[in-house]
Amino acid sequence: MTDQPTAPARTAIVTGGARGIGAAIATRLAADGLAVAVLDLDEQGCASVVAEITSAGGRALAVGVDVSDEAGVETAVERVAAEMGAPTVLVNNAGIIRDNMLFKMTTSDWDAVMNVHLRGAFLMSRACQKHMVEATWGRIVNMSSVSAQGNRGQANYAAAKAGLQGFTKTLSIELGKFGVTANVIAPGYIETEMTRATAERIGVSFEEFAAGMAKGIPVGRIGQPEDIASATSYLVSEGAGFVSGQVLYVAGGPMD
Ligand code: NAP
Repeated sequence: MTDQPTAPARTAIVTGGARGIGAAIATRLAADGLAVAVLDLDEQGCASVVAEITSAGGRALAVGVDVSDEAGVETAVERVAAEMGAPTVLVNNAGIIRDNMLFKMTTSDWDAVMNVHLRGAFLMSRACQKHMVEATWGRIVNMSSVSAQGNRGQANYAAAKAGLQGFTKTLSIELGKFGVTANVIAPGYIETEMTRATAERIGVSFEEFAAGMAKGIPVGRIGQPEDIASATSYLVSEGAGFVSGQVLYVAGGPMD
């Protein structure tokens, strides 16, 4: 029997990792054998995800940072590099919604969404890319959404999520020669606090809302955070090195 080459230990950063999709990604990547830095606005808020990972025998670090804060991002990424090793896997997952129809959307609702999704992904990617280029290996996964194709009441969010797709394709072109891939996951309807808040806003119970959504989804159910974590696990794997600049819709059915 020939020995298979062992993949080097990798360190991943998952933004918005304290809950929802980010928490599922963080625990999945840790189970895959990566050391995981769980970044979120509130360091304390990351504690339960870090505890879950470490109690399962993994390595994790909680880091409190606002991804739209340039100095904070630089400090956070250097802290991860110093305490866990060079971050060569980055999952830009942090996100917010500030939904409203265009005529009622405030400038601050527009700016807040752009700042977290687009500026945040830009600052995090720029801070991490030097570690990836030095290692001549890296994986960037940016979290878009089916809303990138347009969604009533989400002019800000749809624009940011579509923008992330162009951003990611450009990173894949610029960084490919350094062994770095960049891909997008565009989730469909996933059960998290974000989608529970949407149901609440329109005044129906989450169960009723989810059942209505499921009727329009070919696989007949809404998504779970673990569905997105599985796709992320593949895209950051050693074997996915020839997959770059792609938008992977994880939505229980086809998207144009
Ligand atoms: P979520 O439950 O609201 O979690 C988002 C996390 O991001 C929260 O922990 C939040 O922290 C954190 N965050 C917000 N602003 C941040 C900032 N400036 N810096 C650092 N962390 C920040 O949302 P989710 O449903 O898991 O969504 C995760 C990602 O998937 C988002 O990008 C979202 O747009 C995308 N997505 C979700 C769905 C869905 O159906 N759920 C579908 C398509 C795409 P706080 O708790 O402190 O606010």
